[in-house]
Amino acid sequence: MKAKATRRKTVKPKPRRRSGSLIPGFEQRPNRLKPESDLQDMRWQKPLDYVRFILEDAARRTEQSRALFPRKFYRGDCHAHSQHSDGIGTVAEMAAMAKAAGLDFQFMTDHWGLTQARECRRHGLWVGQEPVAHLHHLGILGLTKVFVPGPDLARDVRAVTRQGGTPFIPHPTGWWPSRVYEPEAIQALNALPDPFLMEIVNGANNIVSAFDYTDAAAIALWDALLASGRRVHAMGNTDAHSPHGLGTVWNGVFAPRCEEAAIVRALRGGRCFVSEAPLLDMSVGAAGMGQRIGRRAAGAPLRIVAADARGLMRVRLIGDGKVLRAWHPDGKPVVNLTLPLPADLRTYVRAEAVSMDGKRGYTNPVYLALPHRHTRPIPR
Ligand SMILES: [Zn+2]
Ligand SMILES: [Zn+2]
Repeated sequence: MKAKATRRKTVKPKPRRRSGSLIPGFEQRPNRLKPESDLQDMRWQKPLDYVRFILEDAARRTEQSRALFPRKFYRGDCHAHSQHSDGIGTVAEMAAMAKAAGLDFQFMTDHWGLTQARECRRHGLWVGQEPVAHLHHLGILGLTKVFVPGPDLARDVRAVTRQGGTPFIPHPTGWWPSRVYEPEAIQALNALPDPFLMEIVNGANNIVSAFDYTDAAAIALWDALLASGRRVHAMGNTDAHSPHGLGTVWNGVFAPRCEEAAIVRALRGGRCFVSEAPLLDMSVGAAGMGQRIGRRAAGAPLRIVAADARGLMRVRLIGDGKVLRAWHPDGKPVVNLTLPLPADLRTYVRAEAVSMDGKRGYTNPVYLALPHRHTRPIPR
Protein backbone atom coordinates (compact mmCIF):
# COMPACT_ATOMS: atom_id res chain seq x y z
CA MET A 1 0.00 0.00 0.00
CA LYS A 2 2.76 2.43 1.04
CA ALA A 3 4.89 1.93 -2.11
CA LYS A 4 1.87 2.42 -4.29
CA ALA A 5 1.05 5.77 -2.62
CA THR A 6 4.63 7.08 -3.11
CA ARG A 7 4.66 6.11 -6.75
CA ARG A 8 1.41 7.94 -7.32
CA LYS A 9 2.88 11.13 -5.78
CA THR A 10 5.72 11.27 -8.32
CA VAL A 11 3.40 11.16 -11.30
CA LYS A 12 3.33 14.58 -13.00
CA PRO A 13 -0.22 15.89 -12.77
CA LYS A 14 -1.99 16.28 -16.08
CA PRO A 15 -3.91 19.49 -16.73
CA ARG A 16 -7.31 19.02 -15.14
CA ARG A 17 -10.05 18.48 -17.65
CA ARG A 18 -13.36 19.84 -16.54
CA SER A 19 -15.48 18.05 -19.02
CA GLY A 20 -19.09 18.93 -18.35
CA SER A 21 -18.54 22.13 -16.33
CA LEU A 22 -17.16 24.47 -19.02
CA ILE A 23 -17.83 25.02 -22.70
CA PRO A 24 -14.66 24.13 -24.67
CA GLY A 25 -12.52 27.21 -25.26
CA PHE A 26 -13.36 28.87 -21.89
CA GLU A 27 -10.71 27.08 -19.78
CA GLN A 28 -8.84 30.31 -19.05
CA ARG A 29 -11.91 32.41 -18.18
CA PRO A 30 -13.09 31.57 -14.63
CA ASN A 31 -11.76 33.97 -11.97
CA ARG A 32 -10.01 35.97 -14.65
CA LEU A 33 -9.96 39.24 -12.65
CA LYS A 34 -7.06 39.61 -10.25
CA PRO A 35 -8.02 41.21 -6.92
CA GLU A 36 -4.87 43.35 -6.93
CA SER A 37 -5.49 44.71 -10.44
CA ASP A 38 -8.68 45.92 -12.07
CA LEU A 39 -11.15 44.25 -9.71
CA GLN A 40 -10.89 46.92 -7.02
CA ASP A 41 -11.72 49.67 -9.52
CA MET A 42 -14.53 47.68 -11.09
CA ARG A 43 -16.10 46.92 -7.72
CA TRP A 44 -16.41 50.69 -7.18
CA GLN A 45 -17.35 51.64 -10.73
CA LYS A 46 -19.89 48.95 -11.63
CA PRO A 47 -22.36 49.59 -8.75
CA LEU A 48 -22.04 53.29 -9.48
CA ASP A 49 -23.07 52.60 -13.10
CA TYR A 50 -25.96 50.40 -11.97
CA VAL A 51 -27.28 53.08 -9.62
CA ARG A 52 -26.98 55.65 -12.42
CA PHE A 53 -29.11 53.40 -14.69
CA ILE A 54 -31.79 53.18 -11.98
CA LEU A 55 -31.77 56.96 -11.46
CA GLU A 56 -31.93 57.66 -15.19
CA ASP A 57 -34.95 55.38 -15.33
CA ALA A 58 -36.52 57.24 -12.38
CA ALA A 59 -35.91 60.52 -14.23
CA ARG A 60 -37.71 59.19 -17.33
CA ARG A 61 -40.57 58.00 -15.13
CA THR A 62 -40.90 61.44 -13.54
CA GLU A 63 -40.98 63.12 -16.95
CA GLN A 64 -43.80 60.77 -18.03
CA SER A 65 -45.66 61.47 -14.78
CA ARG A 66 -45.22 65.24 -15.19
CA ALA A 67 -47.21 65.02 -18.45
CA LEU A 68 -50.15 63.63 -16.43
CA PHE A 69 -49.95 66.20 -13.61
CA PRO A 70 -51.64 69.62 -13.74
CA ARG A 71 -49.03 71.67 -11.86
CA LYS A 72 -45.47 72.62 -12.60
CA PHE A 73 -42.95 71.80 -9.89
CA TYR A 74 -39.19 71.55 -9.35
CA ARG A 75 -37.64 68.40 -8.02
CA GLY A 76 -34.69 68.33 -5.64
CA ASP A 77 -32.86 67.17 -2.56
CA CYS A 78 -31.83 69.45 0.33
CA HIS A 79 -29.43 67.18 2.22
CA ALA A 80 -26.29 65.28 1.11
CA HIS A 81 -22.61 65.02 2.02
CA SER A 82 -19.36 65.09 0.06
CA GLN A 83 -15.72 64.44 0.92
CA HIS A 84 -15.73 67.89 2.53
CA SER A 85 -17.15 66.06 5.57
CA ASP A 86 -17.95 62.36 6.05
CA GLY A 87 -19.21 61.63 2.50
CA ILE A 88 -17.18 59.43 0.15
CA GLY A 89 -18.10 61.14 -3.14
CA THR A 90 -16.33 64.16 -4.53
CA VAL A 91 -18.48 67.20 -5.25
CA ALA A 92 -18.03 66.47 -8.99
CA GLU A 93 -19.23 62.86 -8.57
CA MET A 94 -22.23 63.96 -6.50
CA ALA A 95 -23.11 66.58 -9.12
CA ALA A 96 -22.89 64.04 -11.95
CA MET A 97 -25.22 61.63 -10.15
CA ALA A 98 -27.73 64.37 -9.26
CA LYS A 99 -27.78 65.28 -12.95
CA ALA A 100 -28.31 61.63 -13.97
CA ALA A 101 -31.27 61.53 -11.56
CA GLY A 102 -32.78 64.48 -13.43
CA LEU A 103 -32.95 66.62 -10.29
CA ASP A 104 -33.58 70.33 -10.76
CA PHE A 105 -31.54 71.17 -7.64
CA GLN A 106 -29.26 69.47 -5.16
CA PHE A 107 -27.96 70.95 -1.90
CA MET A 108 -24.65 69.78 -0.47
CA THR A 109 -24.93 70.09 3.32
CA ASP A 110 -21.59 69.05 4.76
CA HIS A 111 -21.15 68.70 8.52
CA TRP A 112 -18.03 70.68 9.23
CA GLY A 113 -18.56 74.04 7.54
CA LEU A 114 -18.68 75.47 4.04
CA THR A 115 -15.43 74.35 2.41
CA GLN A 116 -17.53 72.59 -0.26
CA ALA A 117 -19.05 75.89 -1.42
CA ARG A 118 -16.55 76.85 -4.10
CA GLU A 119 -16.64 73.41 -5.80
CA CYS A 120 -20.44 73.27 -5.48
CA ARG A 121 -20.82 76.57 -7.31
CA ARG A 122 -18.55 75.27 -10.08
CA HIS A 123 -20.68 72.12 -10.48
CA GLY A 124 -24.12 73.77 -10.20
CA LEU A 125 -24.93 72.48 -6.69
CA TRP A 126 -26.43 74.60 -3.91
CA VAL A 127 -24.78 74.89 -0.53
CA GLY A 128 -26.12 74.18 2.94
CA GLN A 129 -24.77 72.93 6.26
CA GLU A 130 -25.55 70.21 8.78
CA PRO A 131 -23.68 70.91 12.02
CA VAL A 132 -23.83 68.18 14.65
CA ALA A 133 -25.07 69.41 18.03
CA HIS A 134 -25.72 67.93 21.45
CA LEU A 135 -29.02 66.12 20.74
CA HIS A 136 -29.65 66.75 17.08
CA HIS A 137 -28.10 67.46 13.76
CA LEU A 138 -29.36 70.75 12.35
CA GLY A 139 -30.02 71.19 8.62
CA ILE A 140 -29.42 74.72 7.34
CA LEU A 141 -30.12 76.21 3.91
CA GLY A 142 -29.28 79.67 2.67
CA LEU A 143 -26.57 80.80 5.10
CA THR A 144 -23.28 81.98 3.65
CA LYS A 145 -21.57 82.01 7.07
CA VAL A 146 -20.58 78.91 9.02
CA PHE A 147 -23.06 78.21 11.81
CA VAL A 148 -21.64 76.89 15.08
CA PRO A 149 -24.39 75.11 17.05
CA GLY A 150 -24.88 75.29 20.80
CA PRO A 151 -26.53 72.91 23.27
CA ASP A 152 -30.08 74.24 22.75
CA LEU A 153 -31.83 73.16 19.53
CA ALA A 154 -34.64 75.74 19.74
CA ARG A 155 -32.13 78.55 20.32
CA ASP A 156 -30.11 77.37 17.27
CA VAL A 157 -33.23 77.21 15.10
CA ARG A 158 -34.12 80.79 16.09
CA ALA A 159 -30.55 81.98 15.52
CA VAL A 160 -30.38 80.46 12.02
CA THR A 161 -33.71 82.10 11.12
CA ARG A 162 -32.57 85.45 12.55
CA GLN A 163 -29.43 85.28 10.38
CA GLY A 164 -31.60 84.78 7.28
CA GLY A 165 -31.11 81.02 6.93
CA THR A 166 -33.72 78.26 6.75
CA PRO A 167 -33.34 75.58 9.43
CA PHE A 168 -34.73 72.07 9.15
CA ILE A 169 -34.73 69.02 11.41
CA PRO A 170 -33.08 66.06 9.71
CA HIS A 171 -33.87 62.40 10.61
CA PRO A 172 -35.98 63.38 13.69
CA THR A 173 -36.13 59.86 15.16
CA GLY A 174 -32.70 58.57 14.09
CA TRP A 175 -31.35 57.04 10.91
CA TRP A 176 -30.95 53.72 9.15
CA PRO A 177 -29.80 51.18 10.07
CA SER A 178 -29.41 51.43 13.84
CA ARG A 179 -29.38 55.00 15.21
CA VAL A 180 -32.50 55.49 17.32
CA TYR A 181 -32.91 58.81 19.12
CA GLU A 182 -33.59 58.88 22.86
CA PRO A 183 -36.94 60.39 23.96
CA GLU A 184 -35.00 63.45 25.19
CA ALA A 185 -34.04 64.31 21.59
CA ILE A 186 -37.63 63.98 20.38
CA GLN A 187 -38.97 66.06 23.30
CA ALA A 188 -36.63 68.86 22.21
CA LEU A 189 -38.91 69.41 19.19
CA ASN A 190 -41.62 70.67 21.57
CA ALA A 191 -39.64 73.87 22.11
CA LEU A 192 -39.33 74.75 18.40
CA PRO A 193 -41.23 77.73 17.00
CA ASP A 194 -44.19 76.94 14.68
CA PRO A 195 -44.06 76.22 11.83
CA PHE A 196 -40.85 74.27 11.44
CA LEU A 197 -39.43 72.06 8.69
CA MET A 198 -38.73 68.39 9.39
CA GLU A 199 -37.62 65.43 7.30
CA ILE A 200 -40.31 62.74 7.21
CA VAL A 201 -38.20 60.60 4.87
CA ASN A 202 -34.40 60.40 5.16
CA GLY A 203 -32.42 58.10 2.87
CA ALA A 204 -29.16 57.89 4.86
CA ASN A 205 -27.23 54.68 4.12
CA ASN A 206 -29.98 53.53 1.74
CA ILE A 207 -29.66 52.96 -1.97
CA VAL A 208 -32.45 52.37 -4.51
CA SER A 209 -35.21 52.96 -1.93
CA ALA A 210 -35.12 55.62 0.79
CA PHE A 211 -37.93 54.31 2.96
CA ASP A 212 -37.17 52.22 6.05
CA TYR A 213 -38.44 51.82 9.62
CA THR A 214 -36.83 55.09 10.73
CA ASP A 215 -39.03 56.88 8.18
CA ALA A 216 -42.14 55.05 9.41
CA ALA A 217 -41.18 56.34 12.89
CA ALA A 218 -40.63 59.88 11.56
CA ILE A 219 -44.06 59.87 9.89
CA ALA A 220 -45.71 58.59 13.10
CA LEU A 221 -43.97 61.43 14.97
CA TRP A 222 -45.09 63.92 12.30
CA ASP A 223 -48.73 62.80 12.69
CA ALA A 224 -48.44 63.05 16.49
CA LEU A 225 -47.08 66.60 16.24
CA LEU A 226 -49.73 67.62 13.70
CA ALA A 227 -52.54 66.05 15.72
CA SER A 228 -51.37 68.02 18.75
CA GLY A 229 -51.94 71.22 16.79
CA ARG A 230 -48.35 71.89 15.70
CA ARG A 231 -47.55 73.09 12.17
CA VAL A 232 -44.71 70.96 10.81
CA HIS A 233 -43.85 71.18 7.11
CA ALA A 234 -42.41 67.98 5.65
CA MET A 235 -39.27 67.42 3.60
CA GLY A 236 -37.79 64.27 2.06
CA ASN A 237 -34.03 64.18 1.58
CA THR A 238 -31.48 61.50 0.72
CA ASP A 239 -28.77 62.44 3.27
CA ALA A 240 -26.57 60.63 0.73
CA HIS A 241 -23.00 60.07 1.86
CA SER A 242 -22.03 58.63 -1.54
CA PRO A 243 -23.20 59.20 -5.12
CA HIS A 244 -24.97 55.81 -4.90
CA GLY A 245 -27.47 57.21 -2.41
CA LEU A 246 -28.68 60.24 -4.37
CA GLY A 247 -32.09 60.54 -6.06
CA THR A 248 -33.95 58.01 -3.89
CA VAL A 249 -36.30 60.63 -2.39
CA TRP A 250 -36.91 64.27 -3.31
CA ASN A 251 -39.11 67.30 -2.78
CA GLY A 252 -41.51 68.36 -5.52
CA VAL A 253 -41.53 72.12 -4.96
CA PHE A 254 -44.23 74.48 -6.23
CA ALA A 255 -42.02 77.52 -6.81
CA PRO A 256 -42.29 80.07 -9.63
CA ARG A 257 -38.61 79.64 -10.62
CA CYS A 258 -35.84 77.16 -10.01
CA GLU A 259 -33.70 79.68 -8.12
CA GLU A 260 -32.38 78.94 -4.67
CA ALA A 261 -34.24 81.76 -2.90
CA ALA A 262 -37.57 80.90 -4.57
CA ILE A 263 -37.19 77.17 -3.84
CA VAL A 264 -36.28 77.75 -0.19
CA ARG A 265 -39.18 80.18 0.26
CA ALA A 266 -41.60 77.55 -1.09
CA LEU A 267 -40.11 74.82 1.14
CA ARG A 268 -40.39 77.11 4.14
CA GLY A 269 -44.07 77.63 3.31
CA GLY A 270 -44.76 73.89 2.98
CA ARG A 271 -45.57 74.31 -0.74
CA CYS A 272 -44.08 70.94 -1.70
CA PHE A 273 -44.67 67.21 -1.62
CA VAL A 274 -42.23 64.48 -0.59
CA SER A 275 -41.77 61.62 -3.01
CA GLU A 276 -39.95 58.51 -4.13
CA ALA A 277 -41.96 58.65 -7.41
CA PRO A 278 -45.69 59.61 -7.23
CA LEU A 279 -46.65 63.25 -7.85
CA LEU A 280 -49.16 64.76 -5.41
CA ASP A 281 -51.12 67.89 -4.71
CA MET A 282 -53.91 68.67 -2.28
CA SER A 283 -56.05 71.70 -1.41
CA VAL A 284 -59.01 72.51 0.83
CA GLY A 285 -61.13 75.32 -0.58
CA ALA A 286 -58.69 78.12 -1.36
CA ALA A 287 -55.95 76.77 0.96
CA GLY A 288 -53.08 74.87 -0.60
CA MET A 289 -50.48 72.67 1.06
CA GLY A 290 -48.77 74.38 3.98
CA GLN A 291 -51.61 76.87 4.45
CA ARG A 292 -54.31 77.22 7.07
CA ILE A 293 -58.01 77.20 6.45
CA GLY A 294 -60.32 79.08 8.78
CA ARG A 295 -63.33 78.38 10.89
CA ARG A 296 -65.80 77.65 8.14
CA ALA A 297 -63.62 74.87 6.71
CA ALA A 298 -66.04 71.98 7.32
CA GLY A 299 -67.63 70.92 4.05
CA ALA A 300 -65.18 72.90 1.90
CA PRO A 301 -64.11 70.99 -1.22
CA LEU A 302 -61.01 68.89 -0.53
CA ARG A 303 -59.13 68.07 -3.73
CA ILE A 304 -56.38 65.51 -4.21
CA VAL A 305 -54.52 64.76 -7.39
CA ALA A 306 -51.99 61.93 -7.64
CA ALA A 307 -50.04 60.78 -10.70
CA ASP A 308 -47.48 58.13 -11.52
CA ALA A 309 -46.91 56.93 -15.09
CA ARG A 310 -46.14 53.44 -13.71
CA GLY A 311 -49.48 53.22 -11.91
CA LEU A 312 -50.93 53.96 -8.48
CA MET A 313 -51.78 51.26 -5.98
CA ARG A 314 -53.25 53.28 -3.10
CA VAL A 315 -54.19 56.83 -2.15
CA ARG A 316 -55.09 57.70 1.43
CA LEU A 317 -56.44 60.74 3.24
CA ILE A 318 -55.07 61.21 6.75
CA GLY A 319 -56.46 63.65 9.33
CA ASP A 320 -56.01 64.14 13.08
CA GLY A 321 -53.62 61.16 13.12
CA LYS A 322 -56.09 58.74 11.58
CA VAL A 323 -56.72 57.25 8.13
CA LEU A 324 -59.96 58.92 7.01
CA ARG A 325 -60.36 57.40 3.55
CA ALA A 326 -58.49 55.03 1.24
CA TRP A 327 -58.81 54.52 -2.52
CA HIS A 328 -57.38 51.72 -4.63
CA PRO A 329 -56.80 52.92 -8.20
CA ASP A 330 -55.67 49.45 -9.32
CA GLY A 331 -52.76 50.66 -11.44
CA LYS A 332 -54.38 53.77 -12.95
CA PRO A 333 -51.74 56.46 -13.59
CA VAL A 334 -53.86 59.44 -12.44
CA VAL A 335 -56.37 59.95 -9.66
CA ASN A 336 -58.47 63.13 -9.22
CA LEU A 337 -60.58 63.20 -6.08
CA THR A 338 -62.97 65.83 -4.73
CA LEU A 339 -64.87 65.38 -1.48
CA PRO A 340 -66.18 67.63 1.29
CA LEU A 341 -63.78 68.19 4.17
CA PRO A 342 -65.03 65.96 7.02
CA ALA A 343 -66.93 68.04 9.59
CA ASP A 344 -65.37 66.79 12.81
CA LEU A 345 -61.68 67.37 12.00
CA ARG A 346 -59.68 69.47 14.45
CA THR A 347 -56.09 69.91 13.32
CA TYR A 348 -54.96 68.92 9.80
CA VAL A 349 -55.45 66.80 6.69
CA ARG A 350 -52.82 65.36 4.41
CA ALA A 351 -52.75 62.82 1.57
CA GLU A 352 -50.34 60.06 0.63
CA ALA A 353 -49.94 57.70 -2.31
CA VAL A 354 -48.20 54.40 -3.01
CA SER A 355 -47.29 53.35 -6.55
CA MET A 356 -47.63 49.85 -7.96
CA ASP A 357 -43.95 49.18 -7.18
CA GLY A 358 -44.23 50.44 -3.60
CA LYS A 359 -42.78 53.95 -4.11
CA ARG A 360 -44.31 56.47 -1.69
CA GLY A 361 -45.40 60.09 -1.84
CA TYR A 362 -46.73 62.53 0.79
CA THR A 363 -48.43 65.90 0.50
CA ASN A 364 -47.74 68.59 3.04
CA PRO A 365 -50.74 69.20 5.30
CA VAL A 366 -53.49 71.77 5.07
CA TYR A 367 -53.84 73.02 8.63
CA LEU A 368 -57.19 73.68 10.23
CA ALA A 369 -57.77 76.63 12.47
CA LEU A 370 -61.00 75.61 14.12
CA PRO A 371 -62.29 77.33 17.29
CA HIS A 372 -61.38 74.43 19.60
CA ARG A 373 -57.86 74.12 18.21
CA HIS A 374 -55.23 73.90 20.91
CA THR A 375 -51.62 72.81 21.16
CA ARG A 376 -50.22 70.28 23.59
CA PRO A 377 -46.74 68.76 23.82
CA ILE A 378 -45.95 65.32 22.43
CA PRO A 379 -46.79 62.84 25.19
CA ARG A 380 -43.80 61.09 26.75
ZN1 LIG B 1 -27.47 64.01 10.11
ZN1 LIG C 1 -26.65 64.35 6.91
